[in-house]
Amino acid sequence: MQRDNQPWQAMPPPRLQWSDAGVPGSSEFGDIYFSRDDGLAESRYVFLEGNGLPQRWANHPHDEFVIGETGFGTGLNFLLTWQAWAALPQPRPRLHYVSVEQFPLRRADLERALAAWPALATFAAELVDQYPPPIPGCHRLLLAGGAITLDLWWAEAEDALADLDDHGRRWVDAWYLDGFAPARNAAMWTDSLLGRIGALSRAGATVATFTAAGAVRRALQAAGFSMRKGPGFGRKRERLLGTHAGTVPVEGATADTTPPASRPLPAGTPWDIPARSTPAPRSALVIGAGLAGCATAAALARRGLQVSLLEAGALADAASGNAQGVLYTRLSRRHSALSDFALLSFAHASRGYRAMLASGQIRAGVDGDLCGCFHQHRDTEELAVLAERLADIPELASVLDPETANARLGITQTRAGYWFPDSGWLSPPALCRAWSAAAGITLSDHCGALQLRREGESWQALNASGEVVAQADCAVIACGTASGGIAGLDWLPLQPIRGQTTHLPAGRPFNQLRAALCHEGYIAPAPGEHCIGATFNLGEDTSLQRPEDHRYNLDKLAAAVPDWANALATCEPDSLDGRVGFRCTTPDYLPLAGPVPDTPALLEAFAGLRQNARKAIASPGHYMPGLYLNTGHGSRGLSSAPLCAELIASQACSEAPPLPRYLARALAPARFLIRDLGRKRR
Ligand code: SAM
Repeated sequence: MQRDNQPWQAMPPPRLQWSDAGVPGSSEFGDIYFSRDDGLAESRYVFLEGNGLPQRWANHPHDEFVIGETGFGTGLNFLLTWQAWAALPQPRPRLHYVSVEQFPLRRADLERALAAWPALATFAAELVDQYPPPIPGCHRLLLAGGAITLDLWWAEAEDALADLDDHGRRWVDAWYLDGFAPARNAAMWTDSLLGRIGALSRAGATVATFTAAGAVRRALQAAGFSMRKGPGFGRKRERLLGTHAGTVPVEGATADTTPPASRPLPAGTPWDIPARSTPAPRSALVIGAGLAGCATAAALARRGLQVSLLEAGALADAASGNAQGVLYTRLSRRHSALSDFALLSFAHASRGYRAMLASGQIRAGVDGDLCGCFHQHRDTEELAVLAERLADIPELASVLDPETANARLGITQTRAGYWFPDSGWLSPPALCRAWSAAAGITLSDHCGALQLRREGESWQALNASGEVVAQADCAVIACGTASGGIAGLDWLPLQPIRGQTTHLPAGRPFNQLRAALCHEGYIAPAPGEHCIGATFNLGEDTSLQRPEDHRYNLDKLAAAVPDWANALATCEPDSLDGRVGFRCTTPDYLPLAGPVPDTPALLEAFAGLRQNARKAIASPGHYMPGLYLNTGHGSRGLSSAPLCAELIASQACSEAPPLPRYLARALAPARFLIRDLGRKRR
């Protein structure tokens, strides 16, 4: 999955051929996406009935039912599954659908293909609205108000399944094997891919497919499934069905700090694999009610946990307190953990905000607006390269010349740059209020600085007087630079960087702006005053506003929008208001999101890295049970916090992750200890 330093490329589109009846086919593979006769009935018969659905949902022993699919295509199987799940009475397990697709349909083609099924129209509309751009990697979609998790792995199937399998966990309850026919699409049916499918299956998992090919049956048998043939649909004679024996007991499994003997340790030095939480946590405490803490609390509450959200001061009163922030991302000519995470987390955050705006959880135009964002960019060579690579995916980004940018922004631009249609501005405090209002979350503010203590199988949060403020099965530390003040975490390489914003009066000429603008600072359309910013003062700790910092913000904006220079010159810095905050940054500019290491145990287990930083050491990670960090978001919390929250909630609940493993490693707090070992600094 990792493509470090390779040229950045979107996933390739399929080469589609449309029949007169509107059925898409692949000219590459010479096969169709669904049956011309009765696609709905065939998919339902082969995949749902073939896996005993919906009946199995009624007495499923877990909170989540996980379906794995090879070949997302038009999403027809997914929508049928959603429709069947929605028809079930409550209570029902949450649905987690993990699908891989190497040639994602572009959004317009998806819409066209799904128009064939009026009975699925409401589900299809939500899927189309949330459908991700073809950025390589995993895209987590939260549908049906968060009850359905759809992980779309835009990746070659075996790469994606190998990545998931590298965690050494069994997650999947039912498989839909829906590559094109084996004779035309061999890569979807290799022994090795089907072996991964067996390795990822829970005990009792089922598999269903339309093909009856002997090679597929034998490979699935070798992967641990007992296979049988069933009658095929319509004119097809047979299809394959199977059940996995499961070599690992899932129910009542004990601690998983050592992967079960029957599963090999994951590839590479596996320091990043968090311990499995057994039993599943029912409660959580989250320290810090800024963007990271509130997003994490919401992600945990969505899974049914009772969450105590604890804040030293007031909600969103520290680094997440600016009235407006721009949903930022970055494009780069080459893949890296930093740019891959920036794009995936941005796309995830934008989907979430779109849903929150549509449902009224945050107020459109008052608390935020996904009105698009233009990034001025000086590197013309990079713009030329990316203009080509973005040509067929305007839904992600496009390169604009200054004239086109003028039309989008409503103001004159002198520089070219990138246009991100799914970006815009949001009020971090409004988001924090909306997230923390979710059912299952109890907010306690003004707690003062808190400490954590492990007591039996629980975590306790203690206030300065040593009183227990909250107790829960797991805990998440999300309190910015104060996170390093929690006992045992003084090694966290967090650095506060002062930033001052300036409030610009509403009205002319600034109200001409129709979309967000990122230059060396940022500005966005505003319901009242614009919040522009921000300064970048390393090593400074004054929280007082300084007129010269307001002047700095005004000058940067004047340079970015020369037409406004006169109006900005008349703004008197002494009489302007703004806000000072402290970004919590890390040395590699990536957040810290993941399990908190048991530092002495981790250092001892991986001591061999001191001699050879690349040595493969076969030891599982060493972590504090049920303790996680979500911080270090710098000035990008609007983009990065929601996906980090999902990552942590997935880890805490032992669910399949929302990110490729190289990115989870790039975010894991333990990376700094591992790096230090390799550099002989520990
Ligand atoms: N399940 C889909 C639906 O409901 O519309 C139909 C899937 S279609 C029959 C097969 C899919 O497999 C295509 O979307 C194709 O692009 C995808 N595919 C083919 N080879 C692949 C590979 N090596 N890795 C991932 N996806 C692949």
